[in-house]
Formats: sequence, C-alpha cells, structure tokens
Amino acid sequence: MDLPSSQIETRLFIDGQLVAGQGEVEAIVDPASGSVIAQVAEASLDQLNAAVAAATKAFATWSITTPAYRAGLLFRIADLIDRDAEAFAALESLNTGKPYIRMLKDEMPAVAELFRFMGGASRCMGGSAAGEYLPNHTSMTRRDPVGVVGLIAPWNYPLTTAAMKLAAALAAGNTVLLKPSEQTPLSSLKLAELLAGVLPPGVVNILPGRGETIGSALVAHPDIRLVSLTGDTVTGQKVLQTAAKTLKRTHLELGGKAPVIVMNDADLEEVVRCIRFAGFYNAGQDCTAACRIYAAPKIHDKLVAELDGALKSLCIGSPGEGTTELGPLISQRQRERVASFVERAAQQKHIEVVTGGRPSDRAGFFYEPTLIVGALQSDEIVRREVFGPVVSVTRVEDADQAIAWANDNDYGLASSVWTRDVKTALKISARLQYGVVWVNQHLTFVHEMPHGGMKMSGFGKEMSMYGLEEYTIVRHVMMNFGSGSTGFSG
Ligand code: NAD
Repeated sequence: MDLPSSQIETRLFIDGQLVAGQGEVEAIVDPASGSVIAQVAEASLDQLNAAVAAATKAFATWSITTPAYRAGLLFRIADLIDRDAEAFAALESLNTGKPYIRMLKDEMPAVAELFRFMGGASRCMGGSAAGEYLPNHTSMTRRDPVGVVGLIAPWNYPLTTAAMKLAAALAAGNTVLLKPSEQTPLSSLKLAELLAGVLPPGVVNILPGRGETIGSALVAHPDIRLVSLTGDTVTGQKVLQTAAKTLKRTHLELGGKAPVIVMNDADLEEVVRCIRFAGFYNAGQDCTAACRIYAAPKIHDKLVAELDGALKSLCIGSPGEGTTELGPLISQRQRERVASFVERAAQQKHIEVVTGGRPSDRAGFFYEPTLIVGALQSDEIVRREVFGPVVSVTRVEDADQAIAWANDNDYGLASSVWTRDVKTALKISARLQYGVVWVNQHLTFVHEMPHGGMKMSGFGKEMSMYGLEEYTIVRHVMMNFGSGSTGFSG
C-alpha cells in the first residue's frame, strides 16, 4: 500500500500540540519490502517531563468530569476512527505488514468499539452499595481514577493495543502518556492528530521512543501512578523492577504459548479450519496464537495430513493484495529468531518439519507457514514462544495427559479444547490454567469479556468491566451522622 511520506505523521503529541521529537531518530521500515518509510525522532527526557506535567495539570479537571461527558468524547473518537478507518488500516498495514483487508475488516471496527464500550461502561461503574457498619456512620466505596498513567504498547497490534488501554484509562478519568513500540509508532501518531481535535490538552500525550530510553524513564517517573504494558515477559520483569522504586501499580499483558487440545471425537474439519486461521493470523505474531497442538491418538495422523494441505493453501503475499492471508514478519531480526527456533527443532531426530520450515523467497521478511510434528513435551519448540507462523503437533494419550502437558508451561494466557463431548469439555476447561479457554473455537474476542493472563503471561485484565476497573482505585468514605462514637464496630 503506497502512502506519500508527507501524509505520515511523525511528530509527538504533548499538551495538545504536535511537536517534533528531540531525541534519537529511528528509521521506520516496511516489513514487506525492507525499505524505510519514515524517520521518527523519539521524545527527549525533557519532553517526557513536559508530558507528565501536562497530564498532571489536566488530571485536575479531567478526573472530575462526569462519566457521561467522557463517554460523549469517547463516542466522538470512535466515530472519527470509523470515518478514517481506511487511512488507519493502510498506515498500519504499511508499518506492520499486516494484510490491509484484515486490518480494515477485523481490527478497525474493534478499535472503534473499544472506545464505545468503555464510554458506556464508565457510566455503569460505581462502588458497592452504601451501608451502616458502625452505628450512626454511613460508609460508601468509590472507584476513582488512579492519576497519570503510562501505557506501553507492542508492535504486533500497535493501534488495537493502544486503543484498548487508552479507552479504559480515559473512561475511568485518568490522564495518559502512551508510548508505542519504537518499530510501529505511526498509527498512534496518526491517532494523536485525531485526538487533538477532541480531547482537552494534556489528557493524552503520545511519545514514541525506545524501551530502554523513554520506556524505562516513563516507568521510573514518580508522578506516573500506574503502568500498563503489553510486551515480552522479560520486559515485564524489567518494568516490575523499575516500578518497585516508586511502588507503582502495574498491569502486565505478556507472552503466551497457547495449547490446543484436540480429542479423538473433535470435528476435524473445524479444527483444521481454525488452526489454519488462529495459528497464522498476523503471521502467528499473536500472544494467543494456536501454536501448541496436543492431538489424541486416533485423530493425530489425520490432523497432521489435513493441516499439511491446509497450510500449503495459505496465500502468502503483499499486504495490499485482497487475497493475502499471510504477510511478512515485523523485522529481519524477528524472522531470524523464528528461523533459528525451527532450525534447532529440525536438528532433533524425533521431529519432522512437515510443511514450510524456511524463509520465503520474496523480498521483505516473509517466512513460510510451518508445521512441526513429533516434538516432545520437553522440546524448546513446545515450551517457548516462537511468535511466528509455526505450529507444532504432539501426540497425547488421553485428556489427563493433555491437561498435564498443557499446564506444564510458564505461560498462562490462552488455550482451547476441541471435543463433541460436553463432559470432556467441562473437565478440561475447569483444569486448564489459562486466562481464557475456548471450546471448539480459538482466537475470538468480545468486548464484554476480560482478556489477560496467569503465571508468566502477567496479570490484570483488558476489555470488559474488569478492564475498566484496572484503571481505578477503590476508596472508602465514612460519614458520621451521630456524635461521640469512636473505634472499631466490634
Ligand atoms: P517488547 O517487550 O520488546 O516491547 C513492548 C513494549 O515495551 C515496546 O513499546 C518497548 O519499547 C517497550 N519496552 C521495552 N523495554 C522496556 C523497558 N525496559 N521499560 C519500559 N518499556 C520497555 O515486546 P514486543 O516485541 O513489542 O511484542 C511482542 C511481545 O508482546 C510478545 O512476547 C507477545 O507475546 C507480547 N504480547 C502480549 C499480548 C497480551 O495480551 N498478553 C498481546 C500482544 C503481544
């Protein structure tokens, strides 16, 4: 998708103004060709401090606006996102290599809905009912905004992740600093243009920059009260260490290695259709990707044969082509990382690379859809997040072994189980240690339901009322309407 560079916004957004970055310049690359599409100067530390000061000032008025007022502005943002959906989709597709049509049809409606859902949800949020727990004293709980919050987004869903965090934080009455990934800042900077016409100055500030410079300075800043990160588990650990110094609240959405349990009685056609989609959507660069398949003995061989054919039918191509299903990986570095996982797996005698297993011949950072069979529970390819178009199939004896092996992993974000038997489905879903369990489905989200992990996939929820509550603090107000009493209620 060609976009004239003059149409690409590269400025930062501080206190309602679009301003040039004063830090180091990062070349932004089109992963489908490898060519540079823009130069973005990151924020300097002075600019970070100015943004925090602007957000602190804005908090004094924004935090006491009514939910109805904030909802009105969030609905306006959603409408403008719908209006500009094609331009956003083109820019995001250019910067990430995602198929344009998927960005337009899947992510753009979801981005607008995130603002609509949180706008409405803010009007339904409240503390629990008031009561008298001490004679002549009425207590109430309130949910109040936390303050200035820092939002840190990754490169795999730049705009969607930014919108998920922004909508909830703003709906709850916080003011915001958003730091997009240094590799994919363009859609967030375009969003800045849009927000400038809607929100009061300082309510949202957008500062691109690297993790080790602007990211860690944002986490360390004493006037930022909460940091929400979507990123790698190692990044989450660094954020926690830095945040400890100011006892900052954290919300971490980290990596995943989703198990897909396929029982003997599963609908094979549906399983294959779904893995073809959910293992390879966004070129497999998805923390919930259907990548670690455990197949029961009677379905294993048929599943492998059918998947081989299905993956060979995936259409690799230019992100702008309407037929493209699989675009490039985000960078040369990411492609090398994926390739090295597959090479190490292929060296194991018990593993067979049935489909793909190599970079594509095309220009850019494409990698062939890859199916790995025979991997053991102890193998790296079964245990670690590859974050590319690679799925492994491992044979399991029965449901108990599938549950044990699915749970035998550091991550705990997403999982699925495929069976026609309701008792098996209930038993497996009750025992899986994952933030979401899909039954006869994978990679489907609704705004009303929470998204978030367990174990080393992090903690905290995005979306739903739980996602809104992440950005609030529960407070107690007690009113004395008698005289003379003190102390505990006993
Ligand atoms: P990353 O951790 O490298 O970067 C994420 C963000 O953190 C970027 O904006 C980066 O600049 C910033 N960052 C890096 N170091 C930092 C530091 N020391 N302090 C503050 N900020 C820092 O991750 P990525 O490579 O951009 O994204 C891929 C990862 O994100 C994968 O592991 C994937 O599983 C995970 N992910 C998780 C979810 C989820 O919902 N759980 C969703 C999408 C992606």
